[in-house]
Amino acid sequence: MFSQAQSCVRCKELACTRKSVVFGAGDADADLMFIGEAPGASEDEQGLPFVGRAGKLLDTLLAEIGLAREDVFVANVLNCRPPGNRDPLPVEIDNCREYLYKQVELIEPVVICSLGNFSTKLLRGDPTGITRLHGRPEVIALGRRAVRLYPIFHPAAALYTPRTLETLREDFARLPELLALGEPEQPAPIEAMVGETDPEPAVEAEPAADQLGLF
Ligand code: URA
Repeated sequence: MFSQAQSCVRCKELACTRKSVVFGAGDADADLMFIGEAPGASEDEQGLPFVGRAGKLLDTLLAEIGLAREDVFVANVLNCRPPGNRDPLPVEIDNCREYLYKQVELIEPVVICSLGNFSTKLLRGDPTGITRLHGRPEVIALGRRAVRLYPIFHPAAALYTPRTLETLREDFARLPELLALGEPEQPAPIEAMVGETDPEPAVEAEPAADQLGLF
C-alpha cells in the first residue's frame, strides 16, 4: 500500500505538482490517531505530515496532555499537497480514501481525532461542520472496526484565532479521559453474523401426544 501510494497518479494535477507523497507517520501501535486535511508546503518538502507551524502547535498540545508525537499516529485525508494549499476537491478525497482507510485498518486506533472539517465530514459521511461537532466523541464504524471519533478544530485554524486555540486546548484536555475508556464494543465477527442471518433450520420438536389430540 505504501509503495503503491508513493507512485500514485490518481489525481493528475496533484501528481504533477507535488514534491512528495506524504503518508501517515508515527507509532504503528498507537491508540490515538489524528487525521488532518492535506500536506502543506513544509510537509511536501520533507515528506512527513504535520511538520510545519500547525504541526508544532499539535506537538505543544500533545505535550500539555503528557504525550509526544512518537506516541500517536498522524495521517491526512490527502497524501499530496493541493497547489497553493487550496481545499481538497471531492474527487481527490475520493481517490485518496482507500489509502486513509487502509492506514486506519493497520493502526487499529481506539480514538481518532479528526482535525477540522474535511476529515470530520469524510469519516462521519455527513456534511455537519466542525463548529457544531467539536469536542463531542461518538462511536463510529470504519469498515469492520468501531472507533471513538473525536472531532476537534484543525490546529491551523487555531494559529491566528486565540478563541479557537482556547477551545482546541479545552477539547484536547478531555482526550486522556476518552482514551481511558478503551476501545468501544466491536461489531460481531463475520462468522457470527452469518450464523445470525442464516440460522440452521430449527428442528421442530415432536408435538407431544396430548397436543395432537390423541388423548
Ligand atoms: N495541515 C494538515 O492538514 N496536514 C498536514 O500534514 C499539515 C498541515
